[in-house]
Amino acid sequence: MIRGGATDLIYRGRFAPSPTGPLHMGSLVTALGSYLDARSHGGEWRLRIDDIDPPRQNKASFESIPFCLESHGLTWDGSIILQSQRREAHERALSKLRNAGYLFACGCTRATLGELGACISDCRDRIDIEGSVRYRVPNDVPDLFDDLFLKKPRVSSLPKNFIVKRRDGLIAYQLATAIDDLDEGYTHVIRGGDLLESSLRQMIIHQALGRLSPKYGHLPIVTDQSGNKLSKQTGAPAVDLDTPNANLRLALGILRQPNPPKYMDCVEDILRHATINWRRDVLAF
Ligand SMILES: [Zn+2]
Repeated sequence: MIRGGATDLIYRGRFAPSPTGPLHMGSLVTALGSYLDARSHGGEWRLRIDDIDPPRQNKASFESIPFCLESHGLTWDGSIILQSQRREAHERALSKLRNAGYLFACGCTRATLGELGACISDCRDRIDIEGSVRYRVPNDVPDLFDDLFLKKPRVSSLPKNFIVKRRDGLIAYQLATAIDDLDEGYTHVIRGGDLLESSLRQMIIHQALGRLSPKYGHLPIVTDQSGNKLSKQTGAPAVDLDTPNANLRLALGILRQPNPPKYMDCVEDILRHATINWRRDVLAF
């Protein structure tokens, strides 16, 4: 079993959205869950914008995301961190992993990839390849890990290898986030349950670098009426900034937290009540 190594004595958490559009209810729930878990433990809460995929980015969201958080009273500590500023650290980590024998270049196209998008051809044995850079997942990776909320989180399947640097030269999300979460000193990573498998990939990278992972907590996934996960890609509507109190109450309900008394009519009071009454044990899904 891979264990999160950080202690509960100190707490530094974060919310790390990609700037691909305005926040929707699913991302507000994640922001609120990570904020409340941090604040209820007397912890810091940082905001990092994961802007390492320019083709998918939306310029306006660099302003709309912080504005939306502030409108809901979700104020972060320190200045906003931009993941794109960390390129050198990402390259250094790639060098370390490459020297330790974890990486190989892959020239496969989408059509030739195997199950779960893994390279299954002989790329690993060739030295003449221009393409993406992949991380070779060790054979003995367990599929269970400790979670702050879930009893026994099980990752159904992990590919044999995955991309850490793309064919177009951009650093892949898994690598960048694994490294930044270590270097920025987060003790706790609270994120959506759809990222369970990503957490495991990132823990495997931490392990390969000989570093302790943060503790992970996965929150319930927010779905629409047809049961599909809310996401920017599927056109989930932006959070309505005219109704912050109602939005927070709805998000608290999704997180199965007590509803603050009706007379509380500002975000500060609602958040104060929610912080005092925050419960982890109801979050298992
Ligand atoms: Zn390949």
